[in-house]
Amino acid sequence: MHKNKYALIVVDNASTNTDKLFTYIIPEEIINYIEVGKRVLVPFGKSNRLLEGLVIEIVDDINFSSNKLKPIKKVIDDTPILSKKLIELGLWMKDKYLAQYIEVFKTIMPTGISNKVIKYIRITEGYNRAYEDRLDEKQKKIIEYLLELKECELNRLKTDLCIKNINLHIKDLEDRGLVELFDKIDTGIGKKYEKFVKRLFDKDKTTEIIDSLKKNANKQIEVIRTLSDVEYIKLKELMMKTDCGYSTVKSLHSKGLIEILDINVNRNPIKRYIPPYKRVSLTEHQKLCLDTIINDIYKNNKNKFLIHGVTGSGKTEVYLQLIDKMLKQNKDSIVLVPEISLTPQTVERFMGRFGDNVAILHSRLSIGERYDEWRKIKEGKVKIVVGARSAVFAPFNNLGLIIIDEEHENSYKSSMNPKYNAIEVAEKRCDLENAALVLGSATPSIETYYRAKNGDFKLLEMPIRANKAKMPSIEIVDMKEELEKGNKSIFSESLFKAIKDNLHNKKQTILFLNRRGFSTFISCRKCGYVVKCSECDISMTYHLDSNILKCHYCGLSVKPPTTCPECGSRYIKYFGIGTQKVEEYIKKLFPSAKVARMDVDNTTKKGSHERILSDMKNGKIDILIGTQMISKGLDFPNVTLVGIIAADMSLNLPDFRASERTFQLITQVSGRAGRGDVEGRVILQTYEPEHYSILTSKEHDYKKFYDMEIKIRKEFNYPPYTNIINIVLGSKDEIKLNEASKEFYFCLVNRLEKNLNVIRNDLILGPNPAPIYKIRNSYRQQIMIKCIEKEVEIVKKILGDLVIDKKNDKMFKDIKISIDINPISII
Ligand code: ADP
Ligand code: ZN
Ligand code: ZN
Repeated sequence: MHKNKYALIVVDNASTNTDKLFTYIIPEEIINYIEVGKRVLVPFGKSNRLLEGLVIEIVDDINFSSNKLKPIKKVIDDTPILSKKLIELGLWMKDKYLAQYIEVFKTIMPTGISNKVIKYIRITEGYNRAYEDRLDEKQKKIIEYLLELKECELNRLKTDLCIKNINLHIKDLEDRGLVELFDKIDTGIGKKYEKFVKRLFDKDKTTEIIDSLKKNANKQIEVIRTLSDVEYIKLKELMMKTDCGYSTVKSLHSKGLIEILDINVNRNPIKRYIPPYKRVSLTEHQKLCLDTIINDIYKNNKNKFLIHGVTGSGKTEVYLQLIDKMLKQNKDSIVLVPEISLTPQTVERFMGRFGDNVAILHSRLSIGERYDEWRKIKEGKVKIVVGARSAVFAPFNNLGLIIIDEEHENSYKSSMNPKYNAIEVAEKRCDLENAALVLGSATPSIETYYRAKNGDFKLLEMPIRANKAKMPSIEIVDMKEELEKGNKSIFSESLFKAIKDNLHNKKQTILFLNRRGFSTFISCRKCGYVVKCSECDISMTYHLDSNILKCHYCGLSVKPPTTCPECGSRYIKYFGIGTQKVEEYIKKLFPSAKVARMDVDNTTKKGSHERILSDMKNGKIDILIGTQMISKGLDFPNVTLVGIIAADMSLNLPDFRASERTFQLITQVSGRAGRGDVEGRVILQTYEPEHYSILTSKEHDYKKFYDMEIKIRKEFNYPPYTNIINIVLGSKDEIKLNEASKEFYFCLVNRLEKNLNVIRNDLILGPNPAPIYKIRNSYRQQIMIKCIEKEVEIVKKILGDLVIDKKNDKMFKDIKISIDINPISII
């Protein structure tokens, strides 16, 4: 007897809360097609609705009765869309981040390839007009509609006809065997096809053919001439070259001289010409760094590295040459860069060196473009990927190397489920696929540096700039003193003068402020009322260009009030500064300067980001004002002055990483200055000139900063000395939320006490209102667990079980529970 095999499948079913693998029988006829990593269609639930699923495992036996199991209906993919290794990685992520199967695999799979099953309706083959007499008016209408269209989407029929109780009528027609319903798979995004024209005639016969055409058929003759040189040409291109219409092409087609074909083409997101990026001979430090890595990989000593290289030390060249070594061994490389540094400059370096061998993945690509890039990787057409966070899942089969540039960046941590950290995922992937991991930064995160010191990564230093340029000198200006001197402007005397001199010397200036908008809050002078977003517990930012108040959390915008909504007074004042205000002041003070601003507000349009950067490169901008968007990766030799308008802004955030973020920001922004021949100068304005973040960044002394910061982390028991698990409970109902949070807390404490040996004072904190208490009308309570490495797994298990238990608890009906393992921000 044939013995059944079974498949464990993640089913794409958004409507239930069940997070498990479903077991299905593999029917004999598909046993040779089914494979782990392929998608299948399976009947689901009582109605046996067809849903898409992903095969995670194939097993010979199950330890329960197979009576109720259903067979898989169909295998969708010819080849697995996920490799076994990537599936293994996904399963690891599920455990690591307490996420659901479906969340994890949706993240790993390329966007745009997710299929939907769509119900269609059509008239059966046996249909006969004679039946029509026995139909009522409504049913006749349905039949008429279908006779015209042959088949159509069920939903379309319903909306188009607008018939009451249409389901009953359809059911009736179905029972009588007149119509039938069937499923079609909609692949969402398809390959892109373009029309091509192919020459069918012999090239040598061109003159003969032209002679055979009518003398006045000028256009046709033109087309034939063009085609005598090329066998294939894009239809569009042909029409443009010959200035002919489609009818001309058609008539040649009907004469059998040409063929018109649909050919699958790749959408190409990079349309410009990219100049070659020449290989340079390495500096001593670069060489040492490269050789150490290659040597260690080769000898299997170590496969994880951290390059701590100052800004301008030439990390990119090291990456490029490492990738080159990989290519020589026929191995694939992934390069992760923060989303905002995926600038043309970065792309040009990689494509300029490796050309067509590079795929680019980032969120500004259209779904179609992203799908095509993914396919290039999958089909082995490229061996290098440069991309943002999710490029860590690039479907390579022979991975040799993952590089993570600016590894300290926040954007490597996902804020959506699964809340994964791309560095951790990359580490795991490298372990699974025996690849090497190289992290690089001028300001490594405290956690990474700590791990490097403990031997988890080999630490490699590049302490000087590649072109021997000096690090910029940083001058600290105490803004309290400015005020005492009577200077109320947002620019210190020293910064003002420096900008003026720089303009005079035809050098470029960058002004940095980590806050967009015009004024950061508006408030009543009489009663102190602050305009806050009605949906979020956050003050609203004034935007001058559109004259509105915007919430930077939910995007809500309102007209600014002219009188105080609380007390009616007219003394509404605008406080705080954003990039727009800096822009306006600069334009007033330096009317002849060419000024540009770069922040999220003016770079959402495709290409705008690129345009500002190319203007900067071509010297069309004297002063560039921006948020942290301008702090990353820009390499403009003519920038000799950087002004940091308010260094305290990040220092005062209620987050234990505030000092670290400030040090990183100052270092990164300063790093934009003096990359060319002229020494760079940075002017840093602050109200806290004595703060260690500011003093150590002035001295370009990362190690000193690290030593001070790590002591504080230890004293207050923060990462890397502890793991933080942040639980946020959210609900629109404030009272219910408070009750549920307390309940959750008590259950959690109870279970922790039973399972852990020691219960420290700060093991579990809360429930407390989250620092931002309300977002999008949803209130938020926070419970924080701080646990040491060996407790993490136990705590996660307890937490995972508790969340499942609470899902069935009435008290938690409208409560959303979100868990973040080692969050990057606890606001
Ligand atoms: P980082 O990423 O470390 O801040 P970059 O990779 O942007 O630094 O390099 C800074 C500058 O130094 C670039 O303009 C680059 O072309 C140049 N550079 C890199 N390596 C060398 C080298 N070996 N010799 C001369 N110039 C170099
Ligand atoms: Zn008031
Ligand atoms: Zn809001």
